[in-house]
Amino acid sequence: MSLSCTNLKTPDNNGDLRFLHHTPDQWREGPANAIDYAPKEETVFLSGGLTLLQDKLIEAALNSLGINFTALPNPDFKAFQTGKAFGNRGQCNPTYFTVGNLVKYLQQLRDEKGLSTEEIVKKYVYITAGGCGPCRFGMYITEYKKALADAGFEGFRLTAFDHEKGIFQGDEIEEQLLDYTPTFFVTLAKAVVIGDIINMLGYKMRPYEVERGTTDAALEACRTIVSNAFLEHKSLIGAMWQCRKVLSKVQLDRLQVKPKVMVMGEFWAAMTEGDGNYNLYRFLEAEGAECIPQLIINRLMLSLWEAEQENLKQQQLPGKDAPAVDFSSLKSRLLIKAGKAAVKTHFTLYAKAIGLHDYDVPDIDKLASLAKEYYTLECSGGEGHLEVAHLIEAVKDNLAHLVISVKPFGCMPSSAVSDGVQSLVTARYPQANFLSIETSGEGAANFYSRVQMALFKAKQAAKEEFEAIEKEMHIPEKVNNYLYQPVNDKIGTAATLVQSLCL
Ligand code: SF4
Repeated sequence: MSLSCTNLKTPDNNGDLRFLHHTPDQWREGPANAIDYAPKEETVFLSGGLTLLQDKLIEAALNSLGINFTALPNPDFKAFQTGKAFGNRGQCNPTYFTVGNLVKYLQQLRDEKGLSTEEIVKKYVYITAGGCGPCRFGMYITEYKKALADAGFEGFRLTAFDHEKGIFQGDEIEEQLLDYTPTFFVTLAKAVVIGDIINMLGYKMRPYEVERGTTDAALEACRTIVSNAFLEHKSLIGAMWQCRKVLSKVQLDRLQVKPKVMVMGEFWAAMTEGDGNYNLYRFLEAEGAECIPQLIINRLMLSLWEAEQENLKQQQLPGKDAPAVDFSSLKSRLLIKAGKAAVKTHFTLYAKAIGLHDYDVPDIDKLASLAKEYYTLECSGGEGHLEVAHLIEAVKDNLAHLVISVKPFGCMPSSAVSDGVQSLVTARYPQANFLSIETSGEGAANFYSRVQMALFKAKQAAKEEFEAIEKEMHIPEKVNNYLYQPVNDKIGTAATLVQSLCL
């Protein structure tokens, strides 16, 4: 709950600024008058904001459960401007982009599709992430409600996933709308995991495609195959085998020397594939790089790890009257372990079926041990210790020629905390080619210029690495097959492939 301040500065007749003093009004989240919402079977659920592929797979997955769900379009610059127009000041840009994207979509329903505002408010519900948090994340729901009310959609319903409590509903009316059963969560997780795997293969293949556009066309075919498998309740492993055949037809030339760039940072800014990070991935690929994205399961595994640590801490603080065996804590521990095992098992099965062999589900314990000397592990919010851990891991395990950490302008956990710590990490690991960069929604030219400067160094490093390998050998055809994924001490794809033939 917050107060809306109405001490406004307005120009008087002489053009001078003067203050208008009003009594502050109490901010209330609920609508002023009761609304007769549409019944459950007529309700349309909206969401979005993950990668383009994952949003579409989630749409198919939830539709397969009989949920009338529509994925919103990718948030663009117009969405950002809409978010700024209706949102509070001083928000981080994921808030502006995602809030603005919803308002923009509803405005289009009203202005282009001819639905009345009343009909939209009664019939549509938005699903988002929410919950408590040490940063602005804790205020997301209120931000949505404020912007929606100011844009004329007062009373529009929201429902939120709380990453700590599972799921909670904004108010009583919404409680009956979605059945948050284990099937719901498992289906959702499958769509996210499969999306991660296909996205990862796309980033490995697109920079080396012989004919421009063939990887994207194959990825689109994979999306259709997996979506149909969800909708027709067919085997998802079978669908991934089909995708393997589609991807195998893309012709690659993997001996092109390109720097590998790890992109990490604040979850949304690093993951989005659009104006939210100035289309960073496409920009890097156009500039001759291969990207290593951070998959969404990384964030999922971090949430499970944080829940596990919380549980352990509570175990170490027994009260006088604590029972000998705390069954509720035991149950939580077992559920967390089952959750971790389920994510790993599904990831492994789908990855093997489609042919992603050189990528494992991140080991958060290992990352925590890398970061703990630099970052207080109890300090949650944003990506917690992961940004620091990723940079150290990239240097120690020789994973990338350049590490870019993307953060929204003024992001508290990422800019204020992690980047402060990264200065110590880069001092201790001077060989790191690290670029920390903020996105504000504007200022793309400056952003691209800084990326290009860091990329120049990365290109030089990739070239030197490749030239240092003895290459007097027969290069077999298999190097251009995406299914051949050797792992050794080289970073670049071309260098790794050639080195694997020398061994
Ligand atoms: S982590 Fe940063 S960008 Fe994300 S909600 Fe918090 S303050 Fe905003």
